[in-house]
Amino acid sequence: MKNLKIRDIITLLNNCRCWSCHTYGFFIETPDGGEYTTCPFCGDEADVINEEDKYDDQILICKKCCIPFDFGCVHAIGGCTDNTSNAHVPSKWIYDGQTYVGAPQLEFEECATQWAKITVLEWACLNSGKQCMDCAYPPYRSPEYYRKCDLVKK
Ligand SMILES: [Zn+2]
Ligand SMILES: [Zn+2]
Ligand SMILES: [Zn+2]
Repeated sequence: MKNLKIRDIITLLNNCRCWSCHTYGFFIETPDGGEYTTCPFCGDEADVINEEDKYDDQILICKKCCIPFDFGCVHAIGGCTDNTSNAHVPSKWIYDGQTYVGAPQLEFEECATQWAKITVLEWACLNSGKQCMDCAYPPYRSPEYYRKCDLVKK
């Protein structure tokens, strides 16, 4: 059997910025009318790993970074579908009977198979639920679009 390369990453770096407030962070954008989703680590277009699952459970990954992420919580509402999310990534997980701490990095060609074998124990909100004050519908004016991130402890 092929030996899968899988590793856990504790420190993550990125070059992504929020389009509205320009702060650096792990932001996911849905530009051009939400036709695609960007990777929170490099800003490139990301693909869905588990197409067969329902929309709410879909996990994304980009070819370059290969770190699976979830859409996470709302950072900014720009109107229409032009929204920004704070990325959520697995932070503790089990693969092949072993427990890992940190984000998993998969092999892109094998990512669907590898992802199916991962049991996530904990997720992390990489921007700690940060909300945007400079977008078209900021939380102080449009609180209905925002809610506290479930992963952020108070
Ligand atoms: Zn990427
Ligand atoms: Zn969050
Ligand atoms: Zn922002």
